[in-house]
Formats: sequence, C-alpha cells, structure tokens
Amino acid sequence: MNGNWVESSNPEKMEIINPATQEVIARAPLGTKEETNEAIKIAKQTFESAVWSGQSPKERAAVLLQIADKLQENIDVLTDLEVQNNGKTRREAQSDVEEAASTFRYYAGLLTMPNGQSYEASGDIQTLIVKEPMGVAGLIVPWNFPLLMSVWKIAPALAAGNSILLKPAEITPMTAVKLFELMDETDLPKGAANLIMGVGSVVGQTIAESNDVDIVSFTGSTEVGRRIMQAASGNLKKVSLELGGKSPNIIFDDADLETAVDYALFGIFLGSGQVCSSGSRLLVQEGIYDTFVEKFVEKAKAIRVGPGNDEHSQMGAIVGEKHFKSILDYIRIGKEEGANLVLGGNRIEKDGLDRGFFIEPTVFTHVTSDMRIVREEIFGPVVAIQKFKGEEEAVRIANDTDFGLAGAVFSTDHNKAIRVIKKVRAGITWVNAYHLTNIQAPWGGYKQSGIGRSLSTYGLDEYQETKQINIHLEPKPIGWFE
Ligand code: NAP
Ligand code: MG
Repeated sequence: MNGNWVESSNPEKMEIINPATQEVIARAPLGTKEETNEAIKIAKQTFESAVWSGQSPKERAAVLLQIADKLQENIDVLTDLEVQNNGKTRREAQSDVEEAASTFRYYAGLLTMPNGQSYEASGDIQTLIVKEPMGVAGLIVPWNFPLLMSVWKIAPALAAGNSILLKPAEITPMTAVKLFELMDETDLPKGAANLIMGVGSVVGQTIAESNDVDIVSFTGSTEVGRRIMQAASGNLKKVSLELGGKSPNIIFDDADLETAVDYALFGIFLGSGQVCSSGSRLLVQEGIYDTFVEKFVEKAKAIRVGPGNDEHSQMGAIVGEKHFKSILDYIRIGKEEGANLVLGGNRIEKDGLDRGFFIEPTVFTHVTSDMRIVREEIFGPVVAIQKFKGEEEAVRIANDTDFGLAGAVFSTDHNKAIRVIKKVRAGITWVNAYHLTNIQAPWGGYKQSGIGRSLSTYGLDEYQETKQINIHLEPKPIGWFE
C-alpha cells in the first residue's frame, strides 16, 4: 500500500499450500474491508496527484520496460514460486513469466503509437478523439495463471495511466507479491500500484462496491462475475469480465488425424484442464470417431502426471483441495448421469502422489448435451466426447451452451473449416490448432463468458475513457437566438 508493506490488522492468516505436497509454504494476510477502502483511497489520491497519470506516454513506457526487465531477470524465482503455489509444471510456469514480460513490453510499445483520432467534422470544426485514464482500476484475478492474469490487467491499466489495486486469488498470492516487490524497484511512483491479499467476499466485494473505483476488471467464474456486476451498479463503474467456458473442439472426418489428436490433448490437458479456454467438449464426426477416440485415449493414458518441479512431469497438480474435490465430484456425477468413463476418473496415489492433489487424465464418451458434465465448467483434466453426423449438427451442438469463450475446428477442407468456425459463437477460435494465441489479439468471450476484451489494443481501450474535443477553428457567434 502506497509503496509500503503493511501488516493486516486481521490476526487470521491464510495457509498457502503447495498442491503437489500439501506443505505449507507461507502464511498470507487476509485484508479487511477497512484496509481495502484505505488502499482504494491511496490509489485515488495517487491518481489525482497526477504523479503517474500525468506522466507522458514515453515516461510510462520506460517504467513498463523496467518492469519487463525485472520479470525477465527473476524468471527462475518467479517460475519456482508459481510451480510451488499453483502446482503447474515448470515448462508452463516459465512460459507464463515470459508472456508476462512480453505483455509489459507490448503495452510499452503501444504507448509509442498515436492513441486517438482527429478529423474535420465541418468546415470550421476539427474534432479530436482523445483517450484518458479512467482513475482507479480494481483488478481481481483467479488462481489458474496467478502471475499472467494479474499482468494481463496491470500492464494495460498502468499503461493507460490509471492507479491500480490488485487482489490475487486468496490461495495463490505468491507471484503477485514478488511482482510488487519487483515493481517497487522501478521508477513506478508510490501508490500507483497497490496489492491487497484477502478473500473474495471481503476484499473483492469491497472493490466491486466502492464508489471510488472507476473500473472493476475481473477474471474468474461466471457465478462470481454476476455478483461483481451487481455490486458495481452503485456508482455504475465500468465492468470488464473474463469468465468461464465450456469450449467445443470440432473434429471432422477429413481432419489430419495426428494433428487433431495432438491439439485435442493440448486443448484439454494443458494446465490440468484448469484453463478458461480449455477444449472440454470434443465433437468428433462419426466416420473417424472410433479411430480418434482410440488414439486420443492411448495418448492421454501416456501423459506423465506429477509434481511441477519434476522435469519428467507433463501435467501438474490440481490447485487446491476444494477444487480437487469438486473435479472428483463432477467425475462421479458423469458416471451417475450414464456417461461412459473410458479413461481415468481417479485420484493418483502411486509414487507418493497421494501427498498432493493429482487426478488422472479423464475421458467420457456417450455423453449427451443435457448432462451436467457437458453443460458445466469442470475446470479439470476431464473431457466429454460427443459424436456428430454432419456440419449442421456440429454447429448446433457447439453452440448449445451458455458459454462462448473459445472453440476450434479441425478439417483439411479449409472452406468448410472457415464456414464452421465463423458460425461458432465464441470470442477465441482456431482452425487446425488449439490454445495458440498472441498478445496482439483481443481475448474474451461471447454470451456468459464475459464482457470486454483483454490484451491487444482492445485491452488498452478497456482501461481508458474516450473524450471528444470539438475545436472551433474560426470562432464567431452561432447567432441561434438572433
Ligand atoms: P472465482 O472463484 O470466480 O474467483 C476469482 C477471483 O474472484 C478470486 O480472486 C476470488 O477471491 C474473487 N472473488 C470471489 N468471490 C468474490 C466476490 N463476491 N466479489 C469479488 N471477488 C470475489 O474463480 P476461480 O475459482 O479463482 O478461477 C476459476 C474460474 O476463472 C473459471 O471459471 C475460469 O474459467 C475462469 N477464468 C477465466 C479466464 C478468462 O480469460 N476468461 C481466465 C482464467 C480463469 P478468492 O480467491 O478469495 O475466492
Ligand atoms: Mg474461488
């Protein structure tokens, strides 16, 4: 807070657990409502003082580049912390840190570009469209990409000149703490970036309700997103929501089988399925259905699940006990609903993995669109495979969902692939690939997967107000009431 680390007055602490071993790695403070309001006040005062908002784009860009350098220099420490706290593999964690550094660089770069428009509206009126910071940005992030999701918000929010307040997920604050320590070593003015740890219903809710917060940017579940939107209505603050998904991955008979199987695995088992854009519904055309399922299951079975810090592990732990139990519950529900469990379904207990939260890659077939395992986001290494006959049916099943985050099509008939992907009602899509994306592309969902976009120029726009300035070039009376 305001460039200082402040002890919370709340004596209660959150035990931070390594999900691969259940060891306690830290004890984190749980901020109070009053402390949250105090941090918001500091962010507001800092914004109004213009120590950051008043700096030139060039000056702000220099600071963002300093932060990127700090992240890069500390890549090993940050990778270790993310592996220990989240349970993901080193390979995944390191890629997150690299992406985080690139995101700061990208927004530093955008600050060197013109940011606005100007045109002649009529003979003597020149209109300028200018972008301005909004004020205080309240940023609330989940536990699946603790560092990267924070940075997806912090980088554009700071680039735009806002003051920020970040609330990490209560169970994964470690890399956020390190990031703030690193930002403290840069020329970022005190009070421009503030961090508060604590529970969603206290700290998060206070941010969403506060009359002094101008935008609340949230990534997390659709359920909490809805609550944030309601809480934000008091002062009509802007709401930016990146929510859940249940994304369809459509495989046609004429797909390149090896590529389709490979990306289908990557689509669902990356991050143990704890990725918002996971391809958790596989729709496979009848002609290759049996061959595809056989190959997919064979490869899924061979995935090496283990602690993130073991270089042999290809898939890490589930983030925590509560979520671990929820995934196992969904597997039980799937069986009760009559889906056919063809692979996995259990906690892994061999080789000492019983100390942590590990779940086998799990595959259900013979599912129907009304089953809960097809409708609800499980957010774990669990995929539901459905069979379809033709193009029209594939599109209908793909869009039969409340979500609209991501989707993919695999086919060697490019006309068909493009025709179908254009009909998929989702914001992030692929043809013959999955999960490959870039900072220049807007990230976000249709329907109940969210409002607004992250990354790209759209992501910067999210944290800016837009003003029109109409300049009278030849000032003279209008004479309306003559
Ligand atoms: P979550 O339960 O919705 O929590 C997300 C964040 O909101 C956490 O920091 C949480 O704090 C906080 N929160 C909880 N209740 C709140 C309230 N009443 N008011 C304000 N904040 C509150 O989600 P999660 O379980 O951490 O993450 C998984 C979800 O995130 C999945 O649904 C996934 O799809 C989604 N996700 C989406 C994207 C995307 O880009 N679309 C990316 C990543 C994840 P606590 O930690 O204290 O509960
Ligand atoms: Mg939660």
